[in-house]
Amino acid sequence: MPILARMLPAPLTMEVRRGAIAQLGTLLADSRVATSGRVAVAVGVGQGDRIAEVIAPSLGEAEVLRVADGTVDAAVSLGADLRKGNYEAVVGVGGGRTIDATKYAASLAGIPMVAVATNLSHDGICSPVASLMHEGGKGSFGVPMPLAIMVDLDFVHDAPPSLVRSGIGDVLSNLSAIEDWQLGNTERGEPIDGLAISMSRTAAEAVLGRPDSIESDAFLTVLAEALILSGMSMVIAGSSRPASGGDHEILHAVDQLFPGTSNHGELAGIGAAFCYFLREDAHRLGQVTACLERHGLPVAPGDVGLTTEQFTAAVMLAPSTRPGRYTILEHLRLSEHEVRERVEDYVRAVGR
Ligand SMILES: [Zn+2]
Repeated sequence: MPILARMLPAPLTMEVRRGAIAQLGTLLADSRVATSGRVAVAVGVGQGDRIAEVIAPSLGEAEVLRVADGTVDAAVSLGADLRKGNYEAVVGVGGGRTIDATKYAASLAGIPMVAVATNLSHDGICSPVASLMHEGGKGSFGVPMPLAIMVDLDFVHDAPPSLVRSGIGDVLSNLSAIEDWQLGNTERGEPIDGLAISMSRTAAEAVLGRPDSIESDAFLTVLAEALILSGMSMVIAGSSRPASGGDHEILHAVDQLFPGTSNHGELAGIGAAFCYFLREDAHRLGQVTACLERHGLPVAPGDVGLTTEQFTAAVMLAPSTRPGRYTILEHLRLSEHEVRERVEDYVRAVGR
């Protein structure tokens, strides 16, 4: 018999709405994530107490564990607690750091993980990657995708606005990442995956032209779905390629050289806009920068406190952060002098 279809890994359930966290117990029972065994709930230090209170009525038996921060050490220590406690599953409730640490801990303990997002800072909600801090800086670790996904809009509304807006920058950067992947295909013969591209692009396009912003439930729903779809595109591609190109190489370089400059999504947005400038694609550059500005996101390096020299240094270092990944940066192979000129031109072009 010929092959009729390919099987795609996907979360068992996905819910984006207000009041989702209060229904966690029902979700776990109905989706058979946890049937009889013990469930651990991992929460961050920030909103941990409030979350523990909201989930208590529906999750009587669950034990609440605290995740100190988004470091490899915190994740390894959580992984050890999960093994010791003989848990059947773990639910990571919180922002990007808590979810990433829980994803990694679950993979160490060999148990399934449910992701419950309380902000929309990046597309890690449903991705097969955990981004964690270690002695040498920040690293990306391959992990299984969460088994079920929940986004609670009540918590998202209460999250710091900068951590919700930044997801917009991360999902927009998909557009630039796709161009880089296609460049890798034409220049290097790298295989591309049309389905992963369509999911990643659709996610970005859904957010790109919307006139509303993070005060609106409708916008937050689309943004949450876009970030989840973006994460799934990486699962399907088997790599971060559909959502990470030169844009993310630049953000990783900024993180390495100037730690604490800004968050993931804000830097991804700047990186994507700069890559469009390098491609001399005025139409897309205009669309991306208009969207970033509409949501109050940074566009120029100076908006996050980086000088032209510092941003130039980051662009020069960028290709080394993802060896083997072919993007517009590797393609142009600009000298330091040329990069500085482009950065100056870019800052002028975006009206700073
Ligand atoms: Zn990202």
